[in-house]
Amino acid sequence: MIELPVVSKETEERKRKPNWLRVKLPIGPEYAKVRKLVDENKLHTICESGNCPNMGECWGAGTATFMILGNVCTRSCSFCAVATGRPPEYDQEEPKRVAEAIKTMGVKHAVITSVNRDELKDRGAEIWYQTVVQTKALSPTTTIETLIPDVKGNWEALERMIEGGQEVVSHNMETVQDLYRRVRPQAKYDRSLEELHRIKEFGKRSKSGAMLGLGETDEQIFKLMDDLAEVKLDILTLGQYLQPTKMHHEVIDYVHPDKFEFFKEEGLKRGIKYVESGPLVRSSYHAERHVHV
Ligand code: SF4
Repeated sequence: MIELPVVSKETEERKRKPNWLRVKLPIGPEYAKVRKLVDENKLHTICESGNCPNMGECWGAGTATFMILGNVCTRSCSFCAVATGRPPEYDQEEPKRVAEAIKTMGVKHAVITSVNRDELKDRGAEIWYQTVVQTKALSPTTTIETLIPDVKGNWEALERMIEGGQEVVSHNMETVQDLYRRVRPQAKYDRSLEELHRIKEFGKRSKSGAMLGLGETDEQIFKLMDDLAEVKLDILTLGQYLQPTKMHHEVIDYVHPDKFEFFKEEGLKRGIKYVESGPLVRSSYHAERHVHV
């Protein structure tokens, strides 16, 4: 049982949602088109499963982040809204449906992610490979970013996941090392760093993301940036953690936009080529900007 922090009255006060977290409502013709496409093709998106605040803006711009290998995860990260449990059989036809949807959307840049399938020997690597290859076949000019899970040290599976021709491969650290037990209990900090190192070794543009507001200190964030610079990370995203439900990890702090700007400078100073940092930033937010870093 993950022990989540008990929040004091004083923090309650500090926790009123500030106005810089106001978001665009998911409405409009483009939004409706994406909605229809996702429903008709029985597709999953992290936009919905993850309660992403930018759904209105992204779908309104005709783009979405598809989630493959189903919408049930074998893990229970305390910040994540995705359902946890024993996933059903995965669908061999899913790569084709995702590739067709991306073709229909006609997006310049497509982002694909997945739940963790720790119960699968190949961690879902073959479905990943097929999804990228079939998307490239139908949309040769569309660049692809794959936000891949923790392969639990199965480096053969990692290679299969990233050899399909995608331009950017991201794997999120999510938080600082000292909060792993409470925020990402089934993951290991050093193992995720190793995964990013191998992505880079494989010649891919590497990307990672973390949330702020879970109780981390500035020093802990600097250490995370130093460790990511060490594995020659290209792109870092930093965004505000938002609590999906009362059952999930509390928001300890709403970090001011100026502080995000400060961390952006600190990341660039440490040699990370591109830092996207702001309260509403998420891994795939404005991801099309990260392709040619
Ligand atoms: S592994 Fe990913 S999808 Fe699964 S609970 Fe953690 S963050 Fe959510």
